Amino acid sequence: MVHPDYNWTELIDEICAGTWVSPLTGKRFPPAPYDKIVFSESLEGQEAGLVESLGFSAPFAVVCDPATHAAMGERVTRALRERGDVTEIILENPHADMASVRDLTERLKPFPTSVAVGSGTINDLTKYATLQNERRYCVFGTAGSMNGYTSSTASITLDSGLKVSLPAQNPAGFFVDLEICAAAPPWLNAAGFGDSLCRSVAQVDMWMSHRLLETMYKHEPYLIEIPDELRLMELARGIAEGDIEAVGTLFRVLTLCGLGIAFTGVSNHGSMGEHQISHYIDCFAGDRHPGTLHGQQIGVTTLTMAGIQQHFLASESPPEIEATSVDEDDMVRRMGPEVGAQCAEIYHGKAFDPAGADRLNERMRTLWPELREECLQMAVPRQKLRQYLDLAGGVTSAQALGVPIDFYREAVSHGHEMRNRFSFADIACDSRVIQELSAAEN
Ligand SMILES: [Zn+2]
Repeated sequence: MVHPDYNWTELIDEICAGTWVSPLTGKRFPPAPYDKIVFSESLEGQEAGLVESLGFSAPFAVVCDPATHAAMGERVTRALRERGDVTEIILENPHADMASVRDLTERLKPFPTSVAVGSGTINDLTKYATLQNERRYCVFGTAGSMNGYTSSTASITLDSGLKVSLPAQNPAGFFVDLEICAAAPPWLNAAGFGDSLCRSVAQVDMWMSHRLLETMYKHEPYLIEIPDELRLMELARGIAEGDIEAVGTLFRVLTLCGLGIAFTGVSNHGSMGEHQISHYIDCFAGDRHPGTLHGQQIGVTTLTMAGIQQHFLASESPPEIEATSVDEDDMVRRMGPEVGAQCAEIYHGKAFDPAGADRLNERMRTLWPELREECLQMAVPRQKLRQYLDLAGGVTSAQALGVPIDFYREAVSHGHEMRNRFSFADIACDSRVIQELSAAEN
């Protein structure tokens, strides 16, 4: 049970206000770009006051879909009607693509204030459409399905079919009625749990890359997130059961992960090898895409990456790589000419030539005992991650996701070609074991 006076946004408030002091450096960071983040067991009766506290005024547009309208949108509309004109924009079966962005941008033009009521797609569409109109927006969450509430990017599918993360804006206000969110379909909160599960594998990748290639590593994003994440893992079953404490903790983890970007300006701390596999699925599955949510996929790809990392970390001898083979023809065959050429360029940017491979091998020989120990400290065993995900009600295999297994293995083998971030999938590829490791996935 949660104490009635429990402050759900403790730490989050300090980070937003810019008063949080990093215990690692003794320094403060600039305030995060939110006017207000409020979580409460119930926000009933506070809806209009929260929106107005942001300086927003009528006429209001409330953007939702039929399900989020029933869950909370109707209530927000009713509350705002007491303060002025409200137009409901209920998007039937919405998709976060450019056609929908253009449509919503037009529809929102007459309104100084847009209030999104929903999670992934509704939030991304409203976030991006209001930016086109140079206005801000606020969001009432309806499920803890992803960590995009507090990110400044929007995940949008371009007209070419490529799904990308576009620079957008933060919501001015982010409001969570925990009773509503705990009553959401459990698979939605399990998806957010899956997106949170990747912290340890992303950290291992980011740290390894930092140690071997001297890429950036900052510990603050992990420092603020890990205590709540550990608690969330203990409460995993409560996600499946719609328990308020579990769902509230999930929202804290999702929000803190988003706020971590404020320390680094990049998303690496929560998006490494596991996100690249999921990204490959979203970009190239076409008709084979089962329509699963980002977080559902990340739960599974996290288990896969944990397996790949464990393969190397189990051994006292360091990995040994060969020069990276960038097979552009094969990439074009799999990705199409345009995206294939783009990704080949990205991949060339991090590829090792024979001399580079020798240097990395030399460095791994020197560092491995230490690096291995450090990574093992951060890692959570795959079996344990799987157990948590299962308890939370998440799917735990490619087959359960509904992704054809051959295609999933392709995504595991080639996801790392799409981004300049260096992960254990790159090491697996360059040490020529990625095919064997991906074949073990099912
Ligand atoms: Zn994610």
